[in-house]
Amino acid sequence: MLNPAPILALDQATILKIAAGEVIERPACIVKELIENAIDARATHIEVNIQNGGLDEITVKDNGHGISSAQLELAIRPHATSKLGHVEDLDTLVTLGFRGEALASIASISELNLRSRTANDKVGQQIVSKYGDIVAQKPCALPFGTTVTVTSLFLNVPARKKFLKAPSTEKQHIERVLQRASLTHPEIAWDFTADSSSVFSLKPVKSLKTRIHDVYGREIASHLLAIEHTQNEMSVTGYISDQSLHYARSQALWIFVNGRPVQDKTIHSAIMEGYRTALMEKRYPFALISLNMPAFEVDVNIHPRKSEVRFRRSQDIYRLVAGAIQRSLEPSASIPSTTYQVSLGNTSSPMTQSSVSNIFMDTSNQVFHDHKAPYEANLEKDLSYPMKYLGHIDHTYLIFSDSKNLFIVDQHAAHERILFEQFKNRPSDTRLAQHCLIPKVLELTPKEDAILKQIYSTLLAIGFEIETFGHHTYLIRMVPSCIGNKYPKLILMDLLHDKMVSQPNTSWDDLQDDLLSRMACHSAIRAHDTLTQSEIDRLLTDMQKTRLSSYCPHGRPTYVQYSIFDLEKLFYRK
Ligand code: ADP
Ligand code: MG
Repeated sequence: MLNPAPILALDQATILKIAAGEVIERPACIVKELIENAIDARATHIEVNIQNGGLDEITVKDNGHGISSAQLELAIRPHATSKLGHVEDLDTLVTLGFRGEALASIASISELNLRSRTANDKVGQQIVSKYGDIVAQKPCALPFGTTVTVTSLFLNVPARKKFLKAPSTEKQHIERVLQRASLTHPEIAWDFTADSSSVFSLKPVKSLKTRIHDVYGREIASHLLAIEHTQNEMSVTGYISDQSLHYARSQALWIFVNGRPVQDKTIHSAIMEGYRTALMEKRYPFALISLNMPAFEVDVNIHPRKSEVRFRRSQDIYRLVAGAIQRSLEPSASIPSTTYQVSLGNTSSPMTQSSVSNIFMDTSNQVFHDHKAPYEANLEKDLSYPMKYLGHIDHTYLIFSDSKNLFIVDQHAAHERILFEQFKNRPSDTRLAQHCLIPKVLELTPKEDAILKQIYSTLLAIGFEIETFGHHTYLIRMVPSCIGNKYPKLILMDLLHDKMVSQPNTSWDDLQDDLLSRMACHSAIRAHDTLTQSEIDRLLTDMQKTRLSSYCPHGRPTYVQYSIFDLEKLFYRK
């Protein structure tokens, strides 16, 4: 009788190769993972170069926060991640998928060259690995950020290589991944080059609508309709083309569920149903549809790459999407039949909660600042309705109405958020130093001095120039231009005092955000300040233009909103 073969545990390299086979099906998957990392690293400019459909080479270059040289090797180790801190609960962990395996998987099936330089580094550092084995690590010349180059793809997994399509098809897949990313991140500049010629180059823009124009060409502008509808904790928002603009293929359909791009037959056919009589047969519209619903309504774990989902109430979703599209195609019927989902004060519904956490969670799946959250959606809609200023309470709360909603705005919190975003969105090259007209003298106590020394190198990295000027005394010569000349000393002292009680934060980004929010706080209109009518008007328009404007940098709401429905509930009419 034949002995059964012994059961052997697979070694780590084999496990990775198998996992890579599932996740990294084709070059476009690599591009997707690399750009998600760049987005996570808060890059504002991402460049993608491919050769021969990505089969010969994929390079993704970003200007994000980089990886320190000590951590470079860890980055390509399996299950090494710097992102778990952002994952609050197991549920989120499950929906995000396992962490820290993308670079390791890619490295296991290719030659990977990872170069990175943080704001604190004088030069870059590079690491080269061949099918998972590190073959070189050395300093290199590099601007701030990270550049990953992948070559020899799948050479050690010939079976996988056989499944690849023609380079031109692989290129199209990559282009689609990049288009989708550019539509989810209008605030990022994107450059895509294939075989040394530019495919597209998109400058950063403020709104999703502008980005749609840039991707699809200006003529789409006059054909775009905003859609927005909420029913039973499910909301649909986005843009669709009117009936006069259509395509031969369904390439211009983009579907997102809770911020995640998905392919879904239900939603696809709901979109087509929405257009039913409006389009000729075999013609497809442009539609970018973003659905938000409580996490329990949708199962995302049925597909290894999570691009397919299963809905608990797919009939309701079908009706919601089809209905929303129908209504916006017939302007006469476009008066919303249901009221928008809002939260009263801080008691939020599950949907609002999930949207809010999506805004603040810094993950690759966090997308759609422009129109995803109900708050944002409402704001965009408000732009079309003139808002009437009704008065203030205690020179602190401004009251507005658009005749369907009552808005109470906290003037300080709102202004703080606006300034914070303005400071943050200044182009990064002007973000750095600016000379103080007159150097400011900083006299510190020994304790303050000790804190300053701890965060000194980070302060230099973000644009301060502070020089020793005697015992516990310093001269501030240059300040980051985001901080400007107004209150550098005050802000720095505040920071030092705060850091005495809490652990000094030495990361570049955190300290920068910290300084920006202090700056915003100091420069913002205060509570009890009397505002002129033009200041009030300005605040309102700025609020409507500002991303995340429904929360101040400290996470307090900047306004609360009561719809007619909410008022009816308060007065027990409903
Ligand atoms: P994950 O993104 O799930 O953490 P990855 O394997 O994609 O796992 O990346 C591993 C780690 O490498 C990340 O957590 C991050 O710290 C670092 N990293 C990868 N790419 C970049 C990048 N472009 N910029 C900065 N850090 C990066
Ligand atoms: Mg990643």
